Amino acid sequence: LFRSVDVIGGYLPLKRAGANFVALCPFHKEKSPSFNVNPHRQIFHCFGCHKGGDVFTFVKEYENIGFVDAVTRLAERAKMPLEYVGGGAPDPQSRHEKDQLLQIHEQITQRWQTALANEASGQLARDYLAKRGVSEEAIKLFRIGAAPDSWDDTVNWAKSKDFPAELVEKAGLILKRDGSEGHYDRFRGRLMFPICDEQGRVIAFSGRVLSGDEKTAKYVNSPETPIFTKSKVFFGLDKSKRAILDAGFAIVCEGQLDLIACFMAGVQNIVAPQGTAFTDQHARILKRYVDEVVLCFDSDEAGQNAAVRSLDSLLASGLAVRVAVVPRPHDPDSFIKANGAEAFRQMIGNAAGYFDYYLERLCAQNPTNNDKGRLAVLRAMGEAVKKTGNQVLVDKYAQKTALRLGVSPDAVRSEFKKTGSASRPVAESESTESIELEEEILPPSTSEFWLLRLLVVCEGAAVALATKIQPAWIQHRVVREIVARWLELHAAGVWAGFASFMSQLESDEARSLLTEAAAENRAIPNPEQQLADVL
Ligand SMILES: [Zn+2]
Repeated sequence: LFRSVDVIGGYLPLKRAGANFVALCPFHKEKSPSFNVNPHRQIFHCFGCHKGGDVFTFVKEYENIGFVDAVTRLAERAKMPLEYVGGGAPDPQSRHEKDQLLQIHEQITQRWQTALANEASGQLARDYLAKRGVSEEAIKLFRIGAAPDSWDDTVNWAKSKDFPAELVEKAGLILKRDGSEGHYDRFRGRLMFPICDEQGRVIAFSGRVLSGDEKTAKYVNSPETPIFTKSKVFFGLDKSKRAILDAGFAIVCEGQLDLIACFMAGVQNIVAPQGTAFTDQHARILKRYVDEVVLCFDSDEAGQNAAVRSLDSLLASGLAVRVAVVPRPHDPDSFIKANGAEAFRQMIGNAAGYFDYYLERLCAQNPTNNDKGRLAVLRAMGEAVKKTGNQVLVDKYAQKTALRLGVSPDAVRSEFKKTGSASRPVAESESTESIELEEEILPPSTSEFWLLRLLVVCEGAAVALATKIQPAWIQHRVVREIVARWLELHAAGVWAGFASFMSQLESDEARSLLTEAAAENRAIPNPEQQLADVL
């Protein structure tokens, strides 16, 4: 139905390796491919991070969406109508509405591109882009446009296209007039940046002001709509995801024009959150691609505060964080124009670890020649570093802080212990939890894993010996579950093949173990004997 090689190959470049296909794993960072797609069994499995499953699991994990959405997305790609059975499915009405909203976004993008390229109303925007040195190529690639300076340009455009006003309002492009009939345009006289989802479909806009007084907001963004959740979208990720995987880290910058400048200069592993708010969801999205981010924010106070604010989300996600401070008076865009892409790359390469950066910042903000200032630095530092829950890091930065402030390391350690002590029980329960988890995911013994392989690879032989297999003998909980289920289905005569079996497994661990057992295509010689030996 959905061939694994076609589906996964649409996301990643797959290379043939024997009967299987391999790629660099999109779920963890690696230099040589351990991500396998087995076209015969229609599954994938990564021998590095042990993620595995069928195409639905892949799309679900890759896109960070629910199962139902994954099925819907696959059907969309295949242009297949879906029939939903039972509950839990998105109602067709909302599906239809989302499609229409996407269509409206696509078409208004084209409308604004035309306005920028050809119309008198696009002159201000053209002048601005020329002044900022944004190339034709960049304008085309990022589909930059211009919204004419008028109250009803979009309203009239929607009418001419037969889009109902209520729907265009829902898309966030027009607003209801106060106290009278009709609508007016949200984006007027602005340079328009389309915001895309990870597949490159336009789902929202950010409009930069081109003229007007001080009171006019510099940026006007689309409101949240059925297709746009601000906290889950990065500007540029649809274009930069490949480069992010290749580089092994992501650069996070503040604005669209910064991102475009970096991208066009060849620094392409870069994203920008919408506005400066960096959320947990943003961190989780990046974590799907890489383990490290470099924050590259302006040297002004707002930029530095944004870097500090992002910390909680980033640490909670387990991402390693470094901070590159663009020297005054530059932003990334002007820095690259003045010093070139190579200098920018070097600055990113030399970026300090987050806590080194934070220590310097605290020392710049507080007088370190008196006790009050030193104490303020100590406390803030202690609070921040404790959020990692990593005792080695805490100790390392106790020493660094002591050295920087010229006080004894022991004094710093005891002060660190005092700060944030209220949250310590949480950290402790977290650590016992992680120990339990580690026990959970211990791999099965070689012979139990072999049993699993024999069951899936040499099904015929296994069926013949089914009566001899006693799940109770199996030590590993997950293997036991899988084998018991396998026997149950065969005994009841309702075995419907491997794919169906896998989709019935409830836990990710079970799926991961099963795909690991099935991913290797090597034939097993003399399976009957082997199976008898294992039993
Ligand atoms: Zn992996």
